[in-house]
Amino acid sequence: MRIELIKGDITEQWVDAVVNAANTTLLGGGGVDGAIHRKGGRRILEECQAIRAKQGGCKVGEAVITTAGKLPAKFVIHTVGPRWNDGKSNEANLLKNCYINSLDLAVENNVDTIAFTNISTGIYRFPKNAAAEIAIDSVVNFPDKDKINLLQFVCFDEENYRIYSDKLKDLNS
Ligand code: ADP
Repeated sequence: MRIELIKGDITEQWVDAVVNAANTTLLGGGGVDGAIHRKGGRRILEECQAIRAKQGGCKVGEAVITTAGKLPAKFVIHTVGPRWNDGKSNEANLLKNCYINSLDLAVENNVDTIAFTNISTGIYRFPKNAAAEIAIDSVVNFPDKDKINLLQFVCFDEENYRIYSDKLKDLNS
């Protein structure tokens, strides 16, 4: 698996699957979730509603998959990151589960190329440095990583981009 760092907007990535930082309702929200639903159109919301009807939304740390509607990607993997509380509420494990469960779902759906947003580091206020550490560690140690060709970390804000640049440089040196 090749790991790539991108500074930009995840809704513009030409990959098989983009990973959304959703919330437990799956009905859309602010931040990247809002951007994905706005640009991807109503088919994404319809599939989210169908999942809700079947299993009642998505729990923190878990992931579900839908069409990507009008986005260049084929699928959206919606995962629900933990809201940062005090760091002692299992946030780190839950964030790790987001990455692993999203990657498992990607492999099950024969996804070859995948883009991740920086889950939980916006409205949910997970400290960015710790979140990047968890994201990279989860991906690098993912048991089935050979089944995915390309993984992009798409950083929207400058701070995350800088943090990931430093950590990925360490990884490659
Ligand atoms: P959460 O509630 O999980 O914190 P947010 O959407 O508020 O989710 O933020 C998660 C991350 O997504 C933040 O780092 C934010 O900068 C980033 N982000 C916001 N919009 C986009 C976008 N269009 N593409 C990629 N990342 C985005």
